[in-house]
Amino acid sequence: FSSVELTQSYLERIKAEDPAYNSFITVTEEQALVQARAADEVRAAGKATAFTGLPVAHKDIFCTRGVRTSCASRILDNFIAPYDATLIAKFNEAGAVMLGKTNMDEFAMGSSNESSFYGPARNPWDTDRVPGGSSGGSAAAVAARLAPAATGTDTGGSIRQPAALCGITGIKPTYGRVSRYGMVAFASSLDQAGPMTRTAEDAAMMLNVMAGFDPLDSTCLDREVPDYSLTLNDSLEGLKIGLPKEYFSADLNPAVAEQVQSAVREFEQLGASVREISLPNTALAVPAYYIIAPAEASSNLSRFDGVRYGYRCEDPKDLEDLYKRSRGEGFGDEVKRRIMVGTYALSAGYYDAYYRKAQQVRRLIQQDFVRALSEVDVIMGPTTPQPAFRLGEKTSDPVQMYMEDIYTLALNLAGLPGMSIPCGQTGGLPVGLQIIGDYFNEAKLLNVAHRFQ
Ligand code: GLN
Repeated sequence: FSSVELTQSYLERIKAEDPAYNSFITVTEEQALVQARAADEVRAAGKATAFTGLPVAHKDIFCTRGVRTSCASRILDNFIAPYDATLIAKFNEAGAVMLGKTNMDEFAMGSSNESSFYGPARNPWDTDRVPGGSSGGSAAAVAARLAPAATGTDTGGSIRQPAALCGITGIKPTYGRVSRYGMVAFASSLDQAGPMTRTAEDAAMMLNVMAGFDPLDSTCLDREVPDYSLTLNDSLEGLKIGLPKEYFSADLNPAVAEQVQSAVREFEQLGASVREISLPNTALAVPAYYIIAPAEASSNLSRFDGVRYGYRCEDPKDLEDLYKRSRGEGFGDEVKRRIMVGTYALSAGYYDAYYRKAQQVRRLIQQDFVRALSEVDVIMGPTTPQPAFRLGEKTSDPVQMYMEDIYTLALNLAGLPGMSIPCGQTGGLPVGLQIIGDYFNEAKLLNVAHRFQ
């Protein structure tokens, strides 16, 4: 079948089914068909490569020339970027077809997709439940088969957590593996883009397109990109798996623990050896993250001032009024909370007590991982403490929402790659297994995941 047929079938599915999931903010039907037609010509000319004509959905955090990039915020509701993010440009060059832009938490702040200006996305396994966040739209779209693959971003778990809650595969690459140019910044030292797909095999294909050096992002590292598809079938004989005892604590739902343990036993059958390890500073990850991420966000979000782009309030009296009302009306509650926390943590007199301290803790957390990964090849554990929760269940208590990230945040602080793959179900809801590897060893994670799948 042709790319046009394939694209049309996905567009029809989106039209028929997405009203139940709200996984897309924008569907780019016309542009998609133009891209699909061009891809079919490339195929007819015998010049197709692996991705030519394949449909993908992109999180609405990546700038797309000529198509709205909202970051699920009122403040960017009318924003049309004049350029493509590097990641978008790479998919275009690879001949991919963009189906549209997916729903997310506002500015990627959240774990449930409920902070979106466009309303929450819903979990296709049970539409009364959240798909996770912040890349909840991408996860729901892939899980509901409205897109074969999608992109996400992960600052503290936003690829892995929704992947776990929607029963799909997601990988957060090493910090610096994928360009952040044109990806709206939340916490620049933590943000990283990655694939969200059904399988590790698909994720490898996606990462082949996404990874690599970009002179436009000074934190993107100039390291060779392996072909991630080539090592998927490598043997796991002798693989050393570490299970951090801190990840199997009282916070963990027993049914989730059981699924994770049984997945680990399957790896033993594939030739791996398992041992308990310790990441002693695990409990400090949430407090450190919720200083560092808001601090960076408060700085990054100062550019939304009602002057340069985005939402502007009606009839401002003066410049001060313009700033205050544009930001006051444009940002949602969670974003405002982060700006306030971050501004406070960075202010003179508090900087040493909060921000500097959090950075010191960050180093300790990183050292925990480096020590552990000198003894084992990969670390495994749950992605989330429990399966998908109900809409509204955690919205009144931000700290409860933040606790959703206890197993995912730490590796962003360390800059390490991590992955979530489906490993079972409980009560009709999917459970995610998290796999953490060493810097730039995404190929190993994908290999481990593929052999399991
Ligand atoms: N849930 C975390 C937060 O709200 C992580 C979000 C993310 O990874 N973008 O900050």
